Amino acid sequence: MDYEITGKTKLTALLGSPVSHSISPQMHNESFRLLGLDYVYLAFDVKPECLKDAVYGLKAAGICGFNLTMPLKVHILPYLDELTPAARLAGAVNTVIVKGGKLIGHTTDGVGYMRSVSDAGYDIIGKKMTLLGAGGAASAICVQAALDGVSSIDMFKRKNGSWEKAAGFCQHVAAETGCRIRLLDIDNAGLLADSISDSAILTNATSVGMAPDNADSPLPDPTMLHKGLIVSDIIYNPRETLLIRQAKGQGCACFNGMYMLLYQGAAAFSLWTGQEMPTEAIKRKYFSS
Ligand code: NAP
Repeated sequence: MDYEITGKTKLTALLGSPVSHSISPQMHNESFRLLGLDYVYLAFDVKPECLKDAVYGLKAAGICGFNLTMPLKVHILPYLDELTPAARLAGAVNTVIVKGGKLIGHTTDGVGYMRSVSDAGYDIIGKKMTLLGAGGAASAICVQAALDGVSSIDMFKRKNGSWEKAAGFCQHVAAETGCRIRLLDIDNAGLLADSISDSAILTNATSVGMAPDNADSPLPDPTMLHKGLIVSDIIYNPRETLLIRQAKGQGCACFNGMYMLLYQGAAAFSLWTGQEMPTEAIKRKYFSS
């Protein structure tokens, strides 16, 4: 199918810094091409101090919507007119849609993660999750898992300067969703082993294991993993982290963060275009190993 930029082409974009490594432009532009949609998706390297000018400039120029990546997911909040309930709970936005002159903030990371779990063939609704990390991705996953009906979540992080903020977050999400959520010390190996022992899924949402420092695992001891546990690492570079290798060694079902990346993009694509991203074609072209 012919695909060319015209005088009517609608603009969507990714804002962040750095952005040059991102696969999102290929994923979205190929989807527009496959569906014959007159849209384009461009990546802009925008630092926090330039975000306000970039957002208001793009809005004035008629952009349909945009994604935010590191480090802008929280910096964007003051410039938005409305937030979805999930974005408000997560306190972060990765997708903005411009509607009726308003900038509306969504978070699709959690939706993308939950879809990646079901896409891998697992049902964790009504079950317990052990979640490692309390950063942006972990918060989005916690909110969506709680909204979707995961029964309890043990969130583990280091006892550092962001502990109190994370504790408040857990209390607030628990109160708003009815999910039982505890914040626990990731350096307490006994608590971690206990939590994993009766969880259906262990989700790594820390950056431990990510390239280029990929020799580490967030677990002090792989024998904490049990057969029957699903182990999910949201890291996608490398595709096989040490945690995933440890999980395979313990006979666990496991999967990485590739499809979370795909499905958070698919959710943004639907918000902007009202159409489903052709995810199977995108998987074949960009996500097959
Ligand atoms: P972030 O906001 O910076 O959070 C990083 C988290 O990692 C924090 O909770 C931090 O712990 C924890 N951490 C870092 N070093 C640690 C260590 N040595 N021991 C224990 N915990 C440690 O980053 P993010 O945006 O949430 O991203 C986290 C990871 O998810 C990255 O690898 C990113 O590539 C990946 N990700 C994947 C997708 C996807 O679509 N698959 C989407 C978003 C992010 P403290 O809170 O204790 O400081």
